[in-house]
Amino acid sequence: MNILNQHFNTPYNTAPFSKISNRDFLPAFKSAIEKAKKEIDVIVNNTEAPTFQNTIEALDYSGQELDRISSIFFNLNSAETNDEIQKIAQEVSPLLSEFGNDITLNEDLFKRIKTVYNSKTDLNLTEEQKTLLDKRYKSFSRNGANLPENKKDQLRTIDKELSKLKLKFGENILAETNAFEMQITDEKDLSGLPDGAKEAAKQLAESKDKDGWIITLDYPSYIPFMTYADNRELRKSLSLAFGSKGFKNDALDNQDNVLKIAQLRHERATLLGYKTHAHFVLEERMAQTPEAVNNFLNNLLKKAKPAAESEFANLQNFAKELDGIDRLEKWDSGYYSEKLKQKLFSLDDEKLKPYFKLENVIDGAFTVANKLFDLSFEEIHNINKYHEDVLTYKVTDNKGSLVSIFYVDFFPRAGKRNGAWMTSFKPQYMQEGDNERPHVSIVCNFTKPTKSKPSLLTFNEVTTLFHEFGHALHGMLANTTYPSLSGTSVYWDFVELPSQVLENWCYEKEALEIFAKHYETGEVISMELIKKIKESATFHEGMQTLRQISLGLLDMSWHAGEAQETITSVKAYETKAFGNTQLYPDVAENCMSTAFSHIFQGGYSSGYYSYKWAEVLDADAFEYFKEEGIFNKTVATKFKENVLSKGGTENPMELYKRFRGQEPKPEALLRRAGLLKD
Ligand SMILES: [Zn+2]
Repeated sequence: MNILNQHFNTPYNTAPFSKISNRDFLPAFKSAIEKAKKEIDVIVNNTEAPTFQNTIEALDYSGQELDRISSIFFNLNSAETNDEIQKIAQEVSPLLSEFGNDITLNEDLFKRIKTVYNSKTDLNLTEEQKTLLDKRYKSFSRNGANLPENKKDQLRTIDKELSKLKLKFGENILAETNAFEMQITDEKDLSGLPDGAKEAAKQLAESKDKDGWIITLDYPSYIPFMTYADNRELRKSLSLAFGSKGFKNDALDNQDNVLKIAQLRHERATLLGYKTHAHFVLEERMAQTPEAVNNFLNNLLKKAKPAAESEFANLQNFAKELDGIDRLEKWDSGYYSEKLKQKLFSLDDEKLKPYFKLENVIDGAFTVANKLFDLSFEEIHNINKYHEDVLTYKVTDNKGSLVSIFYVDFFPRAGKRNGAWMTSFKPQYMQEGDNERPHVSIVCNFTKPTKSKPSLLTFNEVTTLFHEFGHALHGMLANTTYPSLSGTSVYWDFVELPSQVLENWCYEKEALEIFAKHYETGEVISMELIKKIKESATFHEGMQTLRQISLGLLDMSWHAGEAQETITSVKAYETKAFGNTQLYPDVAENCMSTAFSHIFQGGYSSGYYSYKWAEVLDADAFEYFKEEGIFNKTVATKFKENVLSKGGTENPMELYKRFRGQEPKPEALLRRAGLLKD
């Protein structure tokens, strides 16, 4: 029998990587899907009246084998993939989405769920059970399960049209990006660029059989040019090209797509009984309502604007002194910011790296988790790994009980995608009196050690490690009953709190003293360097905050406005939405909305604010630690008990208030950034 379809019979029931071969996956998936379907059938065909237990709870515990196989498979597809696995992924993905649709379109199943939902006040449910019931019911109702047939059809038509338009929006941006190139034939025009960027531009030209150097609108080419190129005219033309994507009244123009997407989203929301698309989206966010988001953004705007204006004035003066620039334009921003930053900090990664040997940083993260949450990490060698570079740990609490199995996978290799992430091979949940502990993993792409040199991290990599470790703690410390509410299964404007808050320890003397020791001499990093790291981390924070606010307001304006059909000019509408958030002179040929892929192509519609929202949460939470001491046990325990262990079992604002004693305050973010004194 297929190893994936049986009990693994391994230590801690860990994934038996050495016994799995790629050809096991497809049949295992098919068999697990059949099994999950039968479990659903049993729920639907139950002759007893629907109850919370026989319907909602049973549904949440169904499909466990399928979930387990999916976790193992898709984690491998991200961290250790090959052609064969990718091919299987292409075969499996449609099977999984078909299975998902079978559930959400199952009317008999919905009938049972609805019966339970309608009697929810009489059921004497716990908070967690109420949340689960609500979540399950909404996963159907938000997809139209309550609509009459003709409106269901209307909804499907809108969904089809929307997915076509979003695709088209993205294709246009991609085509615009690919169509543009700036050829440079005089080396003088590359003045200021680092050698690496020049080299890349040369190679790009060669690959296209062209002379000289080529700069494109792809970030790895665009960003260095805008940051370092001394030639202002060339920066201007590159910036204009970048800013006019989808806004040239040609075949690749996105203005109509923007208007249609906004309008269809509005129609879809009203069909489902919501006032606007933003109301629909925010119902399942910590922020809850468009009013809350707009208040949040405008409040932050009021407080950050004076700082942003003074930073802008400083930058303007600096550019004037340096190059006689009278009017600072958008194409000057990256260039003079970088020059000013160098002048103020001259902070160089090479100076910092010797203090951040990978092993020391991991130990540091473990020590921080021990001091805060009483966790102990012991490396173990008796479980399977999917690659020899992976390290495995047993995580226990102060009574020696198992908390989690923890995998770490740090180095890049051919089968691993870029970036860093946290994931899990098995969730935490309780069933029949057993508390099943999770198997959590973090995957990164740090510099690999050589024979003569250990892996030394840049400071950015250090904070990345702490960030992912924060997500991992959210997974490890989970203590909920139902698998779908466990660990990081929370509203997405809440999910970055544990990760971002952990990053704060990387800037604190008390924490750095534990692990930031020179890998050769053992000397602890100097206070002077720590101070520089802190200051440079918040460099131009006012202007950056203002920019994020302006994009958040633009997003809300497109999705919380009620009369989308009356908008005729995308540019004029955008300008109005930006309000008083702009520092640089407007550029008539440019438009943000026509290339705002986050909200018109990706999943960030009515969600752009969440970048700043999460920062406020983490700054506010960390301020509490700072007040009481960054290793204060009482605060840490409150954080563990009210946030880290609770997953998505309750509304995050309630969880947060129980931890903090009050709602998060944006002032904490401004104070940390040095934008507010006191
Ligand atoms: Zn994250």
